[in-house]
Amino acid sequence: MSSFRIPKGTRDLFPPEIDRWLFLEQKIREYYSRFLYQEVRTPIFEHSELFMRGIGDETEVVSKEMYRFRDKAGRDLTLRPENTASLVRAAVENNFMEHLYPPRFYYIGPMFRYDKPQKGRFRQFHQFGVEILGDPTPQADAELIYTSVEFLREIGIDGLTLLVNSVGCRECRPGYLRELRAAAGQADLCDECRGRVAGNCLRIFDCKEEKCRRTVRDLPKILDFLCEDCRRHFDQMKDTLDQYQVPFRIDPTLVRGLDYYTKTAFEIISGQLGAQDALLGGGRYDDLFRELGGPDLPAVGFAAGMERIILHLADFSPPKRKKTMVIYQQPECLNHAIRVARRFWEAGHAALVEYAAQKFKKQFQRANRIEADFAVIIGPEEIRTGELSIKNLKTREQESIKEKDLTKWQKQNL
Ligand code: AMP
Repeated sequence: MSSFRIPKGTRDLFPPEIDRWLFLEQKIREYYSRFLYQEVRTPIFEHSELFMRGIGDETEVVSKEMYRFRDKAGRDLTLRPENTASLVRAAVENNFMEHLYPPRFYYIGPMFRYDKPQKGRFRQFHQFGVEILGDPTPQADAELIYTSVEFLREIGIDGLTLLVNSVGCRECRPGYLRELRAAAGQADLCDECRGRVAGNCLRIFDCKEEKCRRTVRDLPKILDFLCEDCRRHFDQMKDTLDQYQVPFRIDPTLVRGLDYYTKTAFEIISGQLGAQDALLGGGRYDDLFRELGGPDLPAVGFAAGMERIILHLADFSPPKRKKTMVIYQQPECLNHAIRVARRFWEAGHAALVEYAAQKFKKQFQRANRIEADFAVIIGPEEIRTGELSIKNLKTREQESIKEKDLTKWQKQNL
């Protein structure tokens, strides 16, 4: 046995679980192409500065969780902890807004955070995310939220709760933060949250300590401090969600873990996951383009945790395709078996031949292991007469066909 062990917080993905991953990835591509989203793939690592500027120096993700390293030339690089900052960088660098219409994009891939591993929380995990660039309207937010709810429903996940909030903008948030700091400074908080008051004060709303959870209920909420523009945006967004008939709950403590959010913030949570209950989260990020040196461009998006979605696909059974085992009676028949197998592969069908000389009976056992539907049996007699014996392994019926009629047989049976 190998003495190597997988790094903490990472997972090997293999059958049968991998079938659920393939299903999910295929559904994402199919579903989001209905709304004219196009896929973007950015590098797994970026210059660290991108995440520090984009996500925010004081967030947990940047201050504690980055896989940051220097390459041989001394460049300061980080394995991406999320994909939005990279996507915005790519959009600015490649001028997406001029060349690609509509500017709606999705990504699928691994992300890296030096997090405390537990159920639904890993150090290498996967997200898919969806972003609408350049659209300032509350209707864009509502459509995006609607698609996230509807997508999960279409893949068979029900019983989820949608939480929405507005986190304000650079006009109204500073005034709110002053009030919040003043109130939080007097409040009964854990040591860590006391440290957060002067810095990243909104993070106290995410604290899992029972004491803090009780305390934050009485602290000032951003919804009471929204400026006219943010208030109108939030109201119209909610009206549009009503039109989509998407039920939601307003959660005035929902602040999200990344600094770039403005106005709309939302999350979809599940009762099945325990502490790590968020399946996906997102919102508007109208300042991120400018923050990263790009044009002043509004945007809205979300990221979904694929491991957590997979946990909800427990009843999933993969689509089955018909399989054929090509079985030969004596080693001398192997070459002929290979020629027959080729006729399956080249016609687009699934077939397997065992090359290492295997007893006839053993080959049938293998056919059962792969749950083959048919066995094509090749012996000296079949080779001499130009026929193939085909056994239906489900009904146990056997028939003999002319080898030249194999294509016709495949069309009728596979
Ligand atoms: P965030 O990028 O932090 O807004 O997270 C978006 C979604 O990604 C969350 O709702 C989770 O479903 C998922 N997620 C975030 N961090 C992790 C992690 N360490 N392990 C697994 N899933 C994660």
